[in-house]
Amino acid sequence: METEYDIVIIGSGMGGLICADVLSREGYKVCVLEKNRQLGGSLQTYVRNRVIFDSGVHYLGGLGEGQNLYQVFKYLGILQKLKLQRMNEDVFDKILIGNDPKEYVFAQGYENFIKHLLKDFPDEEKALRLFCDKVKEVCSKFPLYNLRSGGNLDEKNAVLGIDTRTFIESITNNKKLQAVLVGNSMLYELQSGMTPFYVPAMILNSYIESSWKCIDGGSDIGKFMAMNIREHGGVIHRNAEVKKIVVEDGITRSVQLADGRYVHAKNFISNMHPVQTLEMTETDLIKQAYRSRVKNLQNTIGGFVINIVFKKGTFKYVKHNYYYTKEGREWDTTNHTDEDWPLSYCVFFTASSKSPEFAEAMTLLAYMRFGEVEQWAGSFNTVSDENDRGTDYEAFKKRKAEQFLDCAEEKFPGLREKIDEYYTATPLSYRDYIGNADGSMYGIAKDYSNPLKTFISPRTKIPNLYLTGQNLNLHGILGATMSGLVTCTAFLGNEDIIEKIRNA
Ligand SMILES: Cc1cc2nc3c(=O)[nH]c(=O)nc-3n(C[C@H](O)[C@H](O)[C@H](O)COP(=O)(O)OP(=O)(O)OC[C@H]3O[C@@H](n4cnc5c(N)ncnc54)[C@H](O)[C@@H]3O)c2cc1C
Repeated sequence: METEYDIVIIGSGMGGLICADVLSREGYKVCVLEKNRQLGGSLQTYVRNRVIFDSGVHYLGGLGEGQNLYQVFKYLGILQKLKLQRMNEDVFDKILIGNDPKEYVFAQGYENFIKHLLKDFPDEEKALRLFCDKVKEVCSKFPLYNLRSGGNLDEKNAVLGIDTRTFIESITNNKKLQAVLVGNSMLYELQSGMTPFYVPAMILNSYIESSWKCIDGGSDIGKFMAMNIREHGGVIHRNAEVKKIVVEDGITRSVQLADGRYVHAKNFISNMHPVQTLEMTETDLIKQAYRSRVKNLQNTIGGFVINIVFKKGTFKYVKHNYYYTKEGREWDTTNHTDEDWPLSYCVFFTASSKSPEFAEAMTLLAYMRFGEVEQWAGSFNTVSDENDRGTDYEAFKKRKAEQFLDCAEEKFPGLREKIDEYYTATPLSYRDYIGNADGSMYGIAKDYSNPLKTFISPRTKIPNLYLTGQNLNLHGILGATMSGLVTCTAFLGNEDIIEKIRNA
């Protein structure tokens, strides 16, 4: 790899691909280095029993005409190529609380959202309107989210310090409504006394605006961006793990790959977790105090997944998800013990072009802390490096899967009989695929009491080394897309690109 590129991008997650696609379009010669065989990071899909499973894109928001992700995908020319399915407009998420037999409904469109919740909470119109108004107000303070250039921190400062729990408890005393409003908190890991309201607001707003599924999986997003990058003269190397970022005389010169080769460039963008990026970068330019600060930031929790292949024709496909929370535990769903786990879980169905009427598959996702699998932390396992983690690990996964299925059976009676086969993944699987330290699902956790501490700048102390991805601003496909754009504007030194996207 003797060529010197304009930009080397380490990692092909959503943020890395956005940078590579946008910057190659702007005339830069880019090279993407991805450690895995498959591109996309959490966009990756996998096939079991000829059924496709998503690893980290179960549904997308903001893809309605003129909405934020729609404009970005249109600008990139991938919108028309994706096989998208609009979720049920009257219900994209069903919220289940403990033994309550009611299924609470989150619907698309703000008035529709309020109308459906009013059926279950007829006396709470004021609270529902306050909730929706605050979601919209908070979102309006983030210029990039609204594809506006300009804006400054003062604009955001007014809303960064809102604590989710304090706000929800201030608009209603109705405990059930409070639980319902944070009912899909597995989308962002709600921590009582920590999670700023802008996190759920930006995520929920995008789904209320419009909710979509990728038919046959979300990996197409990555595939189409990779095609764009190559069309613009970019180069993508898979199975190319970066081990070291080489800094000499104050600038980054190259990266060293696991096979010992060096790749040289004028600039570098890392889509890896900032902690891993800093660990690979030996230089006095990055002070120990900054390294320690980033290392000590809390990551969001990991997940335990059961991917179920259904017996044919046994489970009707529905165009919505389910989110379950144990009664009274909505503010501490991550604080489970081995016995009371899972305190919350979500259910996603694969949208299949082959079987539109019956679901081919279901994904069950619950929280799992890294500590629960830490005894096997010394093992490593991905498709390209298949190693056994041992029989005791397999027994652990089996036990947890059966415990999880017992809980899910309470809401989906007869579920077990419909299962042909199931496959499980733990925080160790996510760690090994994504390359972070602990299998965190959503990267660095945000904190309302010190919001700036948990914002990571796309710039580093090394002038030609940049960061991107979910750890910067917000996670999710929309969040990582915005982070990618933040990195592009930092690199380009202006926000012209946002105008181009808005006018696409
Ligand atoms: C279980 C789960 C469900 C989710 N569901 C949804 C959903 O329904 N909707 C939604 O919008 N979002 C969802 N998300 C979140 C979303 O998928 C992520 O926020 C987003 O994809 C992260 O993008 P990223 O740019 O940070 O890159 P990542 O996906 O974190 O990718 C980083 C990339 O860098 C590569 N890399 C790491 N180290 C190296 C190295 N040393 N050398 C070379 N390459 C390296 C990795 O292999 C990977 O490809 C989900 C996430 C999870 C975990």
